[in-house]
Amino acid sequence: MNNREFPAVGEAAENLLKQLEDRKKDDLQWQSGKAFSYVYFADGMITQTLKKAYTLFFSENALNPSAFPSLRSMEIEVVDRCLGLFEGGEDSVGSMTSGGTESILMALKSAKEYAKIHKPHIEKPQVIFSLSAHPAFNKACDYFGLEPKITAINDDYTANLEALECAITENTILIVGSAPSYPQGVVDPITEIGQLAIKHNLLFHVDACVGGFVLPFIQNFEKQWNLSVPGVTSLSADIHKYGFASKGASVILYNNPDLRKTQFYVYTDWPGGMYGSPAILGTKPGGAIAVAWTVLHLLGRSGYEKLVNRSMETSRKFRSLINSIEGLQVFGQPDMCIYSFGSDQFDIYDLADEMHMQGWLMDRQQNPPALHMSISPVHAKVFEEFEKDLRTCIQKVKRWNVASLKKQAQLTAKRGLKKLLPEKMYKRLQDKVLENIDVDNKRSAAMYGLIGDLKGTGETEDLIRNFLDKTMK
Ligand SMILES: *Cc1c(COP(=O)(O)O)cnc(C)c1O
Repeated sequence: MNNREFPAVGEAAENLLKQLEDRKKDDLQWQSGKAFSYVYFADGMITQTLKKAYTLFFSENALNPSAFPSLRSMEIEVVDRCLGLFEGGEDSVGSMTSGGTESILMALKSAKEYAKIHKPHIEKPQVIFSLSAHPAFNKACDYFGLEPKITAINDDYTANLEALECAITENTILIVGSAPSYPQGVVDPITEIGQLAIKHNLLFHVDACVGGFVLPFIQNFEKQWNLSVPGVTSLSADIHKYGFASKGASVILYNNPDLRKTQFYVYTDWPGGMYGSPAILGTKPGGAIAVAWTVLHLLGRSGYEKLVNRSMETSRKFRSLINSIEGLQVFGQPDMCIYSFGSDQFDIYDLADEMHMQGWLMDRQQNPPALHMSISPVHAKVFEEFEKDLRTCIQKVKRWNVASLKKQAQLTAKRGLKKLLPEKMYKRLQDKVLENIDVDNKRSAAMYGLIGDLKGTGETEDLIRNFLDKTMK
């Protein structure tokens, strides 16, 4: 059991700060460039300035805009800069949020409320998105009681237009496209989805959470994807990803100002006063807003272009390396500096484990099994080291391939067990497996094996719920 004793007296600040440093030691070492997710890092100079900006607004609260006109003006300017960058029309509006998830939740919430007014016959509103869309869309449907209709993707991992159109019913309120989708980094056919939206009188959200601060700065980028595309009604973009702001900064933008109004929440009967709140958060950290404002102006178009060039070049180098290695392959034609790769010769999760032992962190994906990499400017300096370690690890994994045949046999045995064992006993077995999973899962291939085994039985969901429960202890 955890220590639940509340500290009786205060400790020395010095001690605590030292403890913080110590605790950090086991964390992801993103500064080294050996991690390929969670932290988007441009360079130390930018971070220094942004830390000062954050500290200046450390205590300020954007909950009440009239108390802090500084934050209000910065939020407005951040939204305006973004409307300019993403080519919104005259009437376009937006709000800042705490991240991509909140932006997407707001896009779906406003769509739901908008439909109540403009399509009052709809009792069970549906939202259509591709399998490759971010789980924040599933989360939003879950939170707001919307029905998700998830459609197939093409062989090149883009949204399948026919599948999208087939899914449309009289209850559909919103359709979604990604620019790009996270798993393979490919931009959906936004222009064509826009045409579908117009034809069927639907709202259309473009998820540019990861692409928003990359795509506008790629030289000669040809695909159309932003607010200027006919049919697009809303767009989300995260400043805390490739915008390089500190965590807690994203925008949700609308081509139609009525949509933003349906996003707002208002309650007038509270004894504490009239309460109105634009998005999910009540109390809202001033630091995140100050940093977002600062970074956009610190870098400007030319600054972002330079960083994006570096990320794109580095990404091309990594991808050519991966494609040049027998048995490895980058999936699809990534449009920016995020992509995934897999293998037709060995277990890609084993490779992830081996690379993790060398300090490299790549996220594991499924359907197909793949490793994901988000390339930032910081990765330029680690290319040679990555190449060396990758080649060594591949040799190891290939040698093991024989051994893994045995593992396959074990998995099959486990699958057999599941059929044979009574529910309770299998559950206990599952718990046992959970106990063996390190929270810092250096050896996760085993867990993914098990998840593959349980697929489609509803038990995967339980397993993940238990896993989250366990990590929060
Ligand atoms: C990161 C991401 C999100 C969710 O954003 P958070 O900031 O993690 O809440 C949504 N869509 C895409 C494509 C993303 O990459």
